[in-house]
Amino acid sequence: MSEKTILVWFRNDLRVRDNEILLEAVRKADKILPVYCFDPYYFQKNPSGNAKTGSLRARFLIESVADLRANLRKLGADLIIQTGNPAEILPGLAEQYDVNEVYHHREVAHEETDISEQVEASLWKIKLNLKHFIGHTLYHKEDLPFPIKDIPDSFAVFKKKVERDSDVRPCLGAPELISTPQITDSGELPTLRSLGLDEAVDDPRSDTAFIGGETAALNQLEQFFLNNYQPNSNKNARHPSATDHLSKLSPWIALGCISLRQVYWEAVKHQHSANTQQINLLTLNLLWRDYFRFMFKKHGQKFISNKISKGGIPLDADSHDELFESWKNGKTGFPLIDAFMHELNATGYINNYGRQVVASFLVNDLKVDWTKGAAYFEEKLIDYSPASNWGNWAFIAGVNDARESRYTIAVKSANELETKSSFIDTWLPLKDIDYEDLSEVL
Ligand SMILES: Cc1cc2nc3c(=O)[nH]c(=O)nc-3n(C[C@H](O)[C@H](O)[C@H](O)COP(=O)(O)OP(=O)(O)OC[C@H]3O[C@@H](n4cnc5c(N)ncnc54)[C@H](O)[C@@H]3O)c2cc1C
Repeated sequence: MSEKTILVWFRNDLRVRDNEILLEAVRKADKILPVYCFDPYYFQKNPSGNAKTGSLRARFLIESVADLRANLRKLGADLIIQTGNPAEILPGLAEQYDVNEVYHHREVAHEETDISEQVEASLWKIKLNLKHFIGHTLYHKEDLPFPIKDIPDSFAVFKKKVERDSDVRPCLGAPELISTPQITDSGELPTLRSLGLDEAVDDPRSDTAFIGGETAALNQLEQFFLNNYQPNSNKNARHPSATDHLSKLSPWIALGCISLRQVYWEAVKHQHSANTQQINLLTLNLLWRDYFRFMFKKHGQKFISNKISKGGIPLDADSHDELFESWKNGKTGFPLIDAFMHELNATGYINNYGRQVVASFLVNDLKVDWTKGAAYFEEKLIDYSPASNWGNWAFIAGVNDARESRYTIAVKSANELETKSSFIDTWLPLKDIDYEDLSEVL
């Protein structure tokens, strides 16, 4: 009987632990062909002439793929790395290595699903099946207490029912050993320059080094609990700061260097030695991520496009180019907004509160088309994730069906705001802005 070979197409699941497609492929096949494609689609210019993927995120991605290759090599395998359209690359590799089937994780946002469809069609021409796996979420789709079409649009209802009626599955381990066919050319990692991007510059004011890959993700997870979640009995425990509840895991989660389940079960493990409120906040936020993904699965593009005209511009929003330029360059004159935008531009990361404030300011105060803000975040965020980004923006712009759900983090009154930021010289309380109350969820 001839050997069975499965091609594992890695996308936003750049890890060897708790990776269902990898484990399942190892179980089902004699040989595994792991492949990653740097798709030029993601490195082209967006409609406003900016890079779809900024240098900081692209560097993080290159590091993550390099780490995946290193981890696969430790398991006896390798990773084929190519730059090009996966719909052209994958059939070629499949023929070259006598592949019987191709596995990948299903995505939800339209650009990603379009690419899967193209790959599926091109594989079909050579009579190969692209097998879709459901991954990426904390709760497995099959374990939800409702079919996708009946998922409640209200986050509060979704949360209540899921937590009451569903369980998070245990994590899967890494395969012990992976056999690959004899790989003739595993390919080189691209450079930022070869992807058409400028070198990424690290800002000395950033307090987190975002280094891509599963190895760094596990380290970040461990450090988070070590630093912030000391047992109350430990007299040496550091007093938690205002931002200690932040895991800053989002860039690794976005690329699947770590799974939501891994984060969740680690939180459960620490629940008795840690601050319960912080643990609850972390797991609540993982659920927000699930919620946006499931909303995309349920509604597709409609989730973010109820008021979008055919041209893609919301019908009731002005373009206001100058205001948009001042917002993105951190030159609005409002120190809080400007500080967050400087931080975003310099580091690729701002916390959730900062994102809500600057997004709300652009939409409600400057009255600029929210899709421009979302596209700008797409370029700049190191943790860009389509469902989380576009879902959150649409939420703030009030265009999706989830209107009953409201944000947890209250916009604080001006005198409660942090008083200084290394991202702006003068730091004054924000005045005269009539924010909608984004608070009050649960
Ligand atoms: C306008 C706007 C755009 C956003 N764009 C993105 C994005 O592109 N990618 C992204 O990962 N998050 C996005 N978020 C959500 C959130 O701001 C970030 O996930 C969070 O700030 C990451 O920091 P953390 O890892 O310390 O989060 P923690 O507070 O430690 O939360 C743990 C994890 O939960 C998830 N999470 C937390 N809050 C949210 C949320 N509101 N929605 C969805 N998932 C959440 C993230 O994966 C995060 O790593 C956006 C929020 C807003 C308001």
